[in-house]
Amino acid sequence: MDTIPYSRQEISEDDIAAVTAVLRSELITQGPVVQRFEQAFAAAHEVAHAVAVSNATSALHLACLALGVGPRSRVWTTPISFVASANCALYCGAAVDFVDIDPITRNLSVDALRDKLEDAEAQDELPDVLIPVDFAGLPADLREMRALADRYGFKILEDASHATGASYLGAPVACAWADATVFSFHAVKILTCAEGGMVATHDAALAQRVRSLRSHGITRDEGEFESASHGAWYYEQQALGLNARMTELQAALGLSQLGRLADMQARREALADRYDTLLARLPLILPPRLPDRRSAWHLYAVEIDPARTPVNRAAAFAALREAGIGVNVHYIPIHTQPFYRRLGFAPGDFPAAERYYARTLSLPLFPALTSAQQDRVVNVLGSVLA
Ligand SMILES: *Cc1c(COP(=O)(O)O)cnc(C)c1O
Repeated sequence: MDTIPYSRQEISEDDIAAVTAVLRSELITQGPVVQRFEQAFAAAHEVAHAVAVSNATSALHLACLALGVGPRSRVWTTPISFVASANCALYCGAAVDFVDIDPITRNLSVDALRDKLEDAEAQDELPDVLIPVDFAGLPADLREMRALADRYGFKILEDASHATGASYLGAPVACAWADATVFSFHAVKILTCAEGGMVATHDAALAQRVRSLRSHGITRDEGEFESASHGAWYYEQQALGLNARMTELQAALGLSQLGRLADMQARREALADRYDTLLARLPLILPPRLPDRRSAWHLYAVEIDPARTPVNRAAAFAALREAGIGVNVHYIPIHTQPFYRRLGFAPGDFPAAERYYARTLSLPLFPALTSAQQDRVVNVLGSVLA
């Protein structure tokens, strides 16, 4: 029997035609299609500016730099994320710390954040930037975080790598609460450019800094020159940037996919609803449902409830893989990675994250998953847990 992956890209004939058209055109690196993708993405997320980059790791790095993160900065994030959410601060020479998760939403806990901020204020060690992650596609508690950011004076960089097209309090993510929001267009994400990322913000100056940093900190815009132009060939490097540009090929794919975002989203939502129904009787804790926000359903992550079954996650994972079901685990808590242990973190530091990690399993979820495949996942899982 075929193996069902936990996620896979969906590529249409229109996507292929769009990429092929770019290959036949004059420009294949950053050009007008990148700009069109940025404008369409910004419109879809009701945000003033969107800057496309090579991947979300670069997007987080450049957004940190543009927010002023440097060697004396403190950046806090959640331990239940991909390592890129924390690494971005270290690239800038900043210190990283974590805030434990809320066991229900699995997102960075506002209660834990409030407590940690009180302690940090007493010790004069308040963070400069907070990086909440919209885990599995479910928007984090941005309104409460905004209130704390305004009170304590830190910036919010939302890692919405899982949450393209999600909404919070009736508006798209990236719309209102964060200083900047980052999206990923890796192959397994909601929409894909193969590799790609975006920084979205309402702040024109911040967007401009990211634009400059994605291309070596170089400008060719005469209005921005610090010195007199030497002639038509003149450009200035004004900051230390990188090459983090998106290509026209990536942008053509992303733009074409963006046109199907609502359909792909609806399909993910229907599959998540169906999982909820089919799995209701199994000894599982299902993903949270919150009335004030709509998940993008990047992941359908269940927790095996130890109070209701003796089967542990490792055994369930092995049995499902054996049966050709491509389950996965999101995530190993970042602070327990060897690299982070060498920075002084240790198992036990963030118990809610570690408890979640010990039980979680991500089931296959992608727009092309069929009902028959989904039934197979449910049946195998049912017999594994019986
Ligand atoms: C995928 C992911 C990233 C990194 O995205 P890339 O585009 O692969 O660099 C960052 N943060 C989170 C939460 C992710 O899931």
